[in-house]
Amino acid sequence: MTGPVRQDEFDLDVVVIGGCGHVGLPLAIALADRGARVGIYDVSQAAVEAVNSRRMPFAEPGAEEVLQRVCAEHDCRLFAGSPVKFVCRCDASRVRSVLRSLGVEELRSILDEQGAVSVTCEFCGRPYQFDAIDVERLFAIGAGPESPQSLN
Ligand SMILES: [Zn+2]
Repeated sequence: MTGPVRQDEFDLDVVVIGGCGHVGLPLAIALADRGARVGIYDVSQAAVEAVNSRRMPFAEPGAEEVLQRVCAEHDCRLFAGSPVKFVCRCDASRVRSVLRSLGVEELRSILDEQGAVSVTCEFCGRPYQFDAIDVERLFAIGAGPESPQSLN
């Protein structure tokens, strides 16, 4: 089994998230010192700039010498970015296409029983509700593919 990233497209052995912090940076330096191709990813622009200039962004006895040696011997790459967070990619248009696949009769019978069609995303728990008008709109003539519209 291979992941979605092909080996030849990904030339790092490890990326340390939060790699300019008190835990991440010593880890990244230690891995790089042992020959791993290490990427450092951190949300702090100031910390990334410090490490790019081969300075420790915080006091850590002895670490700056190792950092400078590792950067001199290895290809040193840093990435600054936004916090990594879990974002569910569900949105109303995805839910509508799932509902469309159930068919209008099924949805009408749910409406008869429950008054509305309620869907809760299994991943993030976000609720979606569709009333009779929404359901008829799903199957209206000319209801084509949804324009990209994210609720995230
Ligand atoms: Zn979701």
